[in-house]
Amino acid sequence: MGCRVLSSPQPLDGLQVVGIPMRVSFRGITTREVALIEGPNGWGEWGPFLDYPPPEAARWLAAALEAAWGTWPAPVRHTVPVNATVPAIPADDVPAILTRFPGATTAKIKVAQPGQTLADDLDRVTAVRAALGPSARIRVDANGAWSLAEASEALTKLAAYDLEYAEQPCATVEDLAALRRDLARRRIDVPIAADESIRKADDPLRVRDLHAADLIVVKVAPLGGVAAALDIVAATGLPAVVSSALDTSIGIAAGVALAAALPKLEHACGLGTVGLFTGDVAASPLRPVAGELPVCRVAADPDLLTRWAAPPKRAAWWRERLTATWPHLPAAARALVGDRTSPRAD
Ligand SMILES: [Mg+2]
Repeated sequence: MGCRVLSSPQPLDGLQVVGIPMRVSFRGITTREVALIEGPNGWGEWGPFLDYPPPEAARWLAAALEAAWGTWPAPVRHTVPVNATVPAIPADDVPAILTRFPGATTAKIKVAQPGQTLADDLDRVTAVRAALGPSARIRVDANGAWSLAEASEALTKLAAYDLEYAEQPCATVEDLAALRRDLARRRIDVPIAADESIRKADDPLRVRDLHAADLIVVKVAPLGGVAAALDIVAATGLPAVVSSALDTSIGIAAGVALAAALPKLEHACGLGTVGLFTGDVAASPLRPVAGELPVCRVAADPDLLTRWAAPPKRAAWWRERLTATWPHLPAAARALVGDRTSPRAD
């Protein structure tokens, strides 16, 4: 039998690239570009950030193919609680952002933004606590930007705000583990969550092995799909919070499917993020109602795909990216679309 080597399979010829402006810059992004694809089982979203190399983008592609051609594990709940997300904005702008997350009783606040100070972080956290009240759960996310010493100082001060947890305060798994020991020794009660150390790591289980976190943040696309993410959660044995990666409603639906399939869900999830965009590809965007999202499938609306269509040059860039990414796609993912070739060994 002949073996057809595909640069990318024909079913993906229908890739639709959109660029949707953000209300507030996130990760330095003002317009979020993603590629969307419709398969026999629904729509999938492929939105690796522009600087991600092909092997990393391949995991995001596996998640998109799972959504469009595969199946998701069965849900054990029908709604998922979500948190508000507060970017690294001035404290005065906090109340306006929080209105985009009606009913949320948990807020995640970005801290350690380059160019800002710990005083800016403390002001922002103070503003969120004032707006949401004493019973709200407040977590911070440093995206690994603090050194061990900076994280130790910052969390010592932020502990006064009764934090639910601090997400990726330092970049390395070793520093997360050292920080946890330091905080425990000084009886500072701020649980540590690992995010980048799970989704961008070659071996997400090092977090477990080094006792580097109290819980983990998982995102469907960077981990290669709902089923793959569920496996990682089970392997770590740690509580998990599901978060988005600046997804449209189509990517968010996959995140909700993961959160709905977790055996235990003790924390609000970072999936109420479509309000950070000025628009969406779904006619009924997956926005939280009373702080919760429903488990459902989301389809792209043809008019909205046209409305937010990326310029032809950008669409061509994404097609080239697909071609460059395809050889790195795991065999199981490419088999979903009928490609029986093997992934590149490297
Ligand atoms: Mg994070």
